[in-house]
Amino acid sequence: MRPRSNPRVVIAGGGLAGLACAKRLAEAGLPVTVLESQPYLGGRAGTFLDQDGEWIEQGLHLFPGAYSQFRALLRDIGRPPREVLYWTDDLRFETPSGPSALFGTNPLYAPLRTLLGALGNNDYLGPLAKLSLLPLLAPAALPEALLRRFDRLTVVDWWRRASGSQQALERALRPFCRAIQFTDAEQFSAYNLLGWAHQTLIRPLRARLGGYRGARDSEIFAPLAAHLKQRGVEIRTKVKLDEIEYDAKTDTITGFKLVGGEQLAADIYVVALPAWVFAPKIPQPLRSRPFFADILDLPTAPAISVQLWFDRVVTRRDGFTLVAGSNCPVYQDQSRYTYPYALGSRLSVIVSPADPLMGWDDAAIVAHVLADLGAANPKIAAAKVVKRVVLKHEHHLIRPLPGAMTRRPSQVTPIENLFLAGDWTQQEFFGSQEGAVRGGNACARAVLRAVNRGLGT
Ligand SMILES: Cc1cc2nc3c(=O)[nH]c(=O)nc-3n(C[C@H](O)[C@H](O)[C@H](O)COP(=O)(O)OP(=O)(O)OC[C@H]3O[C@@H](n4cnc5c(N)ncnc54)[C@H](O)[C@@H]3O)c2cc1C
Repeated sequence: MRPRSNPRVVIAGGGLAGLACAKRLAEAGLPVTVLESQPYLGGRAGTFLDQDGEWIEQGLHLFPGAYSQFRALLRDIGRPPREVLYWTDDLRFETPSGPSALFGTNPLYAPLRTLLGALGNNDYLGPLAKLSLLPLLAPAALPEALLRRFDRLTVVDWWRRASGSQQALERALRPFCRAIQFTDAEQFSAYNLLGWAHQTLIRPLRARLGGYRGARDSEIFAPLAAHLKQRGVEIRTKVKLDEIEYDAKTDTITGFKLVGGEQLAADIYVVALPAWVFAPKIPQPLRSRPFFADILDLPTAPAISVQLWFDRVVTRRDGFTLVAGSNCPVYQDQSRYTYPYALGSRLSVIVSPADPLMGWDDAAIVAHVLADLGAANPKIAAAKVVKRVVLKHEHHLIRPLPGAMTRRPSQVTPIENLFLAGDWTQQEFFGSQEGAVRGGNACARAVLRAVNRGLGT
């Protein structure tokens, strides 16, 4: 979409949403400035170098094959998905106190593993438990708009109503909920779970999981920044938005004030910050308006990311492992492809629900992770940890409590020159990398529509 005029846009937040939005706007010819508080881009999907010169990630990131707008972005910046990602066609399940299982996920790329996984693994998931997963598939076939009514129910309530088996809940659904949105099944909107199932079901041949072939900084964010700069985007890192200035007479935003006092004026303002960073910055006179009051009310979930370097190889799998019966619901050995490490395994682990562990120190958290994963995998118990990194994030995603998913705001706000981008704005992929790219793209489309109606001229 080519706009009729060239109003200046300033975007606060250099995560995937802000950068995707900047890309679309710059490609349409608008002058854009991106403000990022960190020294690096990428936000929650970002990676950075530590004092040893090793890449650290904010957290383990899975790339489901159903992500389409993120793939398109990668292609556009000259980093085709086949270069950035490697694909896996199975998912391993473990429990600290029981059997393990390997399920193939893709009927095209891994037909035998998918068939044998579904028919076998009965000590992990009995035939009745597997059959009871079918109710999951039935509503997931509904159009996305109809799935929204499941936002009234938690996964546990919905599962009970569907007479699903307790074993399927504990061994399949609960670890999935904990892994993807850092929240337990009792607090997890059924709409969110069914939404993920829906996206997979409508693209069965894309039922694969991608792992990164390197640090996301060098694989994605550096090439994306170069793409943006070539198109005239000004990217300023280490600058922090402090206040959003609002003029009640004109009912418009008049400036972004940065920490340190600098005032930035533009025609159009995009907030691509997490909801919990934006909420305290919402100008006082706007807080009682229902649109903004809903944002102030959005619940958040914490997460803890643990990265462990071992003195030996503890698993030869490059794919992802879900762990049932543990609050370490997902881990991956990244030593072969993502962050090559010749001396042994390098595991990235998500701790979730993280709420009860947020007050623990790093040593206690690592001991807890090793106890759970070591019980599930004796090679982990036998190995020595030679380096550890623990990142605690008090807020990390919108907690998918019933009602919160449909209450997420649109990218268009009641203030004509203020727009929102982010994984927490309305789009079909909830809190995720694809959700952030979709939020950013939808925001850019809304800005361009407004510009074509005369905004900023
Ligand atoms: C531990 C963890 C694991 C995850 N795993 C997965 C996964 O497996 N698969 C998946 O698809 N998604 C995963 N996600 C979700 C995914 O990372 C996010 O949904 C996505 O990165 C959000 O992008 P965003 O641009 O909306 O927000 P953010 O990435 O949060 O971007 C916001 C940006 O704003 C900046 N900022 C904050 N305050 C200010 C300020 N005052 N001024 C200027 N800038 C500011 C931040 O530094 C940040 O760069 C995970 C997230 C976490 C935390």
